[in-house]
Amino acid sequence: MSSTDPPTALDDAPTLAARRLDDLAGRAAGRSDPADARGEPAAGDGALDVFAPATGERIGSVPACDASDVDAAVERAREAQAEWAATPAEERAAVIGRFGDLAVDRRDELLDLLQLETGKSRRTAVEELFDVPTGCGYLANEAPGVLADERRAGVAPGIATATVTYEPVGVVGVISPWNYPLTLSMADALPALVAGNAVVCKPDEKTPYGALALGELLEVAGLPDGLFQVVTGEGPTVGPALIDAVDYVAFTGSTETGRTVAERAGRNLIGCSLELGGNNPLVVLDDADVDETARGAVQACFSNAGQLCLSAERIYVEEPAYEPFLDAFVRETERLTLGTGYDYDADLGSLIDAAQLDRVRSHVDDARERGATVLTGGRARSDVAPYCYEPTVLTDVDPDATVACEETFGPVVSVASVPDAETAIRAANDSPYGLNASVWTGDRDRGVEVARQVDCGTVNVNDAFLATWGAADAPMGGFGDSGLGRRHGPEGIRRYVESRTIGVSRVGPLTFPDRIPTDWFVRGAFAALSLGRRASRGVRWVKRRFRRR
Ligand code: NAD
Repeated sequence: MSSTDPPTALDDAPTLAARRLDDLAGRAAGRSDPADARGEPAAGDGALDVFAPATGERIGSVPACDASDVDAAVERAREAQAEWAATPAEERAAVIGRFGDLAVDRRDELLDLLQLETGKSRRTAVEELFDVPTGCGYLANEAPGVLADERRAGVAPGIATATVTYEPVGVVGVISPWNYPLTLSMADALPALVAGNAVVCKPDEKTPYGALALGELLEVAGLPDGLFQVVTGEGPTVGPALIDAVDYVAFTGSTETGRTVAERAGRNLIGCSLELGGNNPLVVLDDADVDETARGAVQACFSNAGQLCLSAERIYVEEPAYEPFLDAFVRETERLTLGTGYDYDADLGSLIDAAQLDRVRSHVDDARERGATVLTGGRARSDVAPYCYEPTVLTDVDPDATVACEETFGPVVSVASVPDAETAIRAANDSPYGLNASVWTGDRDRGVEVARQVDCGTVNVNDAFLATWGAADAPMGGFGDSGLGRRHGPEGIRRYVESRTIGVSRVGPLTFPDRIPTDWFVRGAFAALSLGRRASRGVRWVKRRFRRR
């Protein structure tokens, strides 16, 4: 496994990343003055230090907000939201469209910043940033239609109409993780904004600058003041305060924290969406093209150094394809390069911090102690950067090993041979999680058949994760311990609205009439009911026949 450049320090981070961290910290909603960055000591109680994973160096600090800061931000958001809700959906969507264009125009600055605070490779940073304008394009074009009033069938034809209107819930709290700080704050914030809500975003304390930079761009795009605010600070302080103040919470993070978020949202009787962890399976069927599958599996397992919720951590291969696949997969894995430079040389960057490195190391060591074979990787690479770890392929993994049961969230995957597709499906489903899966085959129809039997919110056939994640019109989310609710598509927008059904009677009050004897009316009403049922059965039959042709 080769490496590219030596560790990259803050001074090497070009443009915005190096110059503007203090400005960005000043945009956080909160009482404290951000500490003077770049080498100054921490500001104490009122500030949180932020470190560059590529070097371990402190790069700045942001306010450590408390509950009163959160309340003040939500109050400001609430004031701004009333007028925004009354703004036509097309105008709101146009702001989101302009924001997407700005994210493209400012891409170099945003990529530098993203690399600086996450330590990810430039390639991974590009994949992440690309997602922002893609999502904006979808929302700008489709959201007004999704939010428009809808006519539904009334009580009975000619008697009354029913119209559904969609109203913003108010202020949405977005709590996001460190692994994709741009994508995962925006994938939840932008649909909330386009639906007429205000957003108060709490980024992870390790990566606060991405959300702050995008907040600035939203303002440049024309988003009125106060509608998108960022509260920086510790999760256990800011998170609960936010859930207590907002009307809906969109959370992305670990299953463990997700449960506490859901409990609190439940107590407050507010809605929540939870995008949580996974232990994602990848299934290789015996008719797969092994070279293509090996390239896809490398992307599935090692994108963002495996710190991707959609990453594959378990591979099941039908026996005839096992040896050829394993050879090709190890070969492709060994081609990967490690590095933290601000160019496109490295495939994998750094892990986020020492705790994540310890987690990865302990999962691999535990697997080794239980008899696993390390085919490639299995070493930390502090010569590249303090928290780098080699992409690692394991076989002969004990089913009770931590790596087999828990999410590693690092560049580690175990590969096993299975006798047939049914066993692969059973193994894939043998997990409390159900986020993402991937199926590889030479026969797409067979792939879809297998995909239908895998208990995950997204299943990709002959692709790692982009075939589903990149489909902005289709819902994305998890089964089981991987979460509740969906982002993307109409589902991702409608989670942020209350539906209101307006029924209008054309015949006065829908009750027993004065002028007809009640027993006649009751008989007539039941006769109309069964006639109506027969008529709708007929309509369904005609529709089915028509569809078949
Ligand atoms: P985490 O749950 O520790 O933190 C996520 C966010 O929650 C952070 O902003 C954190 O500050 C905040 N938080 C911490 N304690 C809180 C509390 N008590 N109340 C409210 N918020 C609180 O997550 P992590 O371990 O740092 O992130 C990695 C995890 O996120 C992995 O399990 C990964 O699979 C998951 N993830 C899921 C998706 C998805 O779309 N399903 C995407 C990315 C990451």
